[in-house]
Amino acid sequence: MFEEIPVEIGLVHEGERIRKSNMHCELGGPGIKEKFELVRVCQAETIVHGKISIIGPDLPDIPASSSQPFAILVEIAGEGLDSDIEGVLERRIHEYCNYIQGFMHLNQRYDIWCRLSTQAWNKGFRTLRYIGEVLIALLCSELPLIKSAQVTFFTDPVEIHKRYDDALAIYESRDARARGLHDEDVDVFYGCALCQSFAPTHVCVITPERYANCGAISWFDGRAAARIDPKGPIFAIEKGVCIDPVLGEYSGVNESARDRSMGEVTRVCLYSAYTWPHTSCGCFEGIAFFIPEVEGYGIVHRGFQEVTVNGLPFSTMADSTAGGRQVAGFHGISIEYLRSGKFLAAEGGYARVVWMPESLKEKIYSFIPAELCDVIPTEASVTSINELREFLKKNNHPVIQYWNSSEINNNESEERAGSGNNPVFTFKELPFTGNGIKITLKNAKIYAEKVIIEPVRQKRSDKGDNHE
Ligand code: SF4
Repeated sequence: MFEEIPVEIGLVHEGERIRKSNMHCELGGPGIKEKFELVRVCQAETIVHGKISIIGPDLPDIPASSSQPFAILVEIAGEGLDSDIEGVLERRIHEYCNYIQGFMHLNQRYDIWCRLSTQAWNKGFRTLRYIGEVLIALLCSELPLIKSAQVTFFTDPVEIHKRYDDALAIYESRDARARGLHDEDVDVFYGCALCQSFAPTHVCVITPERYANCGAISWFDGRAAARIDPKGPIFAIEKGVCIDPVLGEYSGVNESARDRSMGEVTRVCLYSAYTWPHTSCGCFEGIAFFIPEVEGYGIVHRGFQEVTVNGLPFSTMADSTAGGRQVAGFHGISIEYLRSGKFLAAEGGYARVVWMPESLKEKIYSFIPAELCDVIPTEASVTSINELREFLKKNNHPVIQYWNSSEINNNESEERAGSGNNPVFTFKELPFTGNGIKITLKNAKIYAEKVIIEPVRQKRSDKGDNHE
């Protein structure tokens, strides 16, 4: 099918990571402010099937090792297609791009991050046109409802800028659709297993009030996808019996998680970041992270480039969160979930949120309960755990009510994290500084080539004794 493309195309290449040292160039990514990918359903007469356009420099004109602004617009037509399906097909861009040997596609929507490897470049992968050919061929062959498709790549920042706000408005209008519908109102949730190539035990459970972790698939999108492609990666989950309405635990979700994770995940509590939390793949838009010193949660989004209040950047915490695991206190989430009435409901919702970046707070401000808006600090007011603690006390943040019972909570949480008979260690018990995080080792085996134990000698300047 792809004889003229100089690299292999196939499922086997999904999950390939391209490190900076091995990249020819980068398209989009954290260093580029405006980037996006969009699928639009159009009238058939407005589409030239198979047409691929590149607005801006193609690969040979992009300097090696650089990051280039990037946007992908896929326009499709076919009887029976409507705009409901656009969000779901955008995730197919992610999937199909990753079939290309030597090409990596991460994230979604306004966060896309692609890399071409040096090997692919050396093999003759010299045009974005090849990616367009793969997208058109796979979309039309795997989803027969799509009768025609054309693809436009933008690498000129001026042309991307012209379309950027429109793309954001389209994402917002899709997200707004699901607001107002509650989990209790439906009998069926949807699951998505698209990210299992990266995180084999991960399945997103998409409910009206818990958007997919990547922020790209709503409950309506899930319903549309399961209808047009019932054997595809998005499927219906019968809710079954509600076991715990506060935690958001449903028998149908547990059964589905068990089946799809090959027995690895047996319980999922949809509204908790601590008790059998939803798994996290690697595409999450943000992380809710527990800060044990104040018994509250910080929230950080992917676009925040600085360190958070616990001294760790998003990228470091993403490593601790991803992989399809259930990590108590490190929870991958979408931005839209921050607008949900079920957001961290099991932990107390926004009453437990103690920090978030200024830019994120601006985005979701109207969804934070009014009485809490001023008592949740950002990097503009606090930059360390000590400052955070003082701020929360001074502003009488509701999280303070949890401080007196912290010891009880710690005991409970170790039990809830599912440790069974295995011992649980925390940094507090080890000779490391916690730096604002708690790490629970569950069934862990640690191997070290060498262990060095030595006394910590105090530096002269630390002793505060200038006379010595
Ligand atoms: S993050 Fe979830 S919903 Fe999004 S593509 Fe991955 S599995 Fe599917």
